[in-house]
Amino acid sequence: MKEDIKTYTLAGLKEHFAGQSLPRFLAQQVFDWIYKKRAEDFEIMSNIARDTRVFLKENFYFSSLKLCKQEISRDRTEKFLFGLEDGAHIETVLIPDEARQTLCVSSQVGCKFSCTFCMSGTRGFKRNLKVSEIINQYLYVNDAMAPRTITNIVFMGIGEPLDNFSNVTDAIRVLMEPKGLHLGKRRITISTCGLAPEIAKLGELALGIKLSVSLHASTDAQRDQLMPVNKKYPLAELMNAIKYFARHEVYPVTFEYVLIKGFNTAKDDAVRLSKLLKSVPYKMNLIPYNLSSLKFAPPLNAEIAAFTQELKDQGVFFTLRKPRGQDIAAACGQLRADWSNKA
Ligand code: SAH
Repeated sequence: MKEDIKTYTLAGLKEHFAGQSLPRFLAQQVFDWIYKKRAEDFEIMSNIARDTRVFLKENFYFSSLKLCKQEISRDRTEKFLFGLEDGAHIETVLIPDEARQTLCVSSQVGCKFSCTFCMSGTRGFKRNLKVSEIINQYLYVNDAMAPRTITNIVFMGIGEPLDNFSNVTDAIRVLMEPKGLHLGKRRITISTCGLAPEIAKLGELALGIKLSVSLHASTDAQRDQLMPVNKKYPLAELMNAIKYFARHEVYPVTFEYVLIKGFNTAKDDAVRLSKLLKSVPYKMNLIPYNLSSLKFAPPLNAEIAAFTQELKDQGVFFTLRKPRGQDIAAACGQLRADWSNKA
């Protein structure tokens, strides 16, 4: 059976070719054609010998995503629903602003972690994405938006990236490969619901990425209600893993904090957050809850204003984010959920 060439990192491809009496620089040449020249056909790789091209063609193929739906929001957020080879669907979202073009990619089909406020977990977990399926989200959108290019990637689409550790880290290696796509250091962010052992393992790899942790609460009791994963890795263990990560990677960790009406926006929450976050260099993003079909609702402006004032009083640094793409249901898992309701 033919192999999907885009599942290989450069190191992996070199190793695969080694000992097959193939030219020494073949892996490098193939990488250059695919990721720098954007060729998806071995025939046109003109600096590769004909018989080697025949070998490549007989053993490898180029996977691609099928665009099922594309929507553009009033705020210019663009959402793509892609079909995979096995008929599963994933979402990718492009978030443009003046300074950067950020692509939000999925890492799994569905999600195992069942956060109670999130749409992605509502349809269960199907499978991990392959390396190529992660890379193809980037390639598809980047090709389509030329001459603009994607500047940043966030793993904040469907799935838990650290639950698909080896494919996600290999995809990052391909995206960052200096002889390939060459996304620079700290342009890629992994967002996690808090898998403590994998956070530590990720730190040890020192890939030069940013880590974002979905915190959303300041006590175990409160976080247990939102995120069942907290029962496995409670806040103390999570914070220890983050501290360990922070010793290996230079960029401050970001904490995501979804503001939920009447749930996590009291003065006590602000006080506890200031204590919890004392031990690590951090940034914090506050995001008003972006859905109302589940059992939670976004806070009113007055509630947000009162809470942000409390945070300031407690010396907590934060950025208040505007939800993007609301009119096109761009929050995690919304599009895929809509699609399967119709299907
Ligand atoms: N599994 C990873 C990445 C996917 S979710 C994680 O948990 O971090 C990306 C971010 O969107 C997370 O911070 C998640 O908690 C948040 N999120 C999910 N549903 C949301 C909603 N309806 N409104 C606002 N943020 C949401």
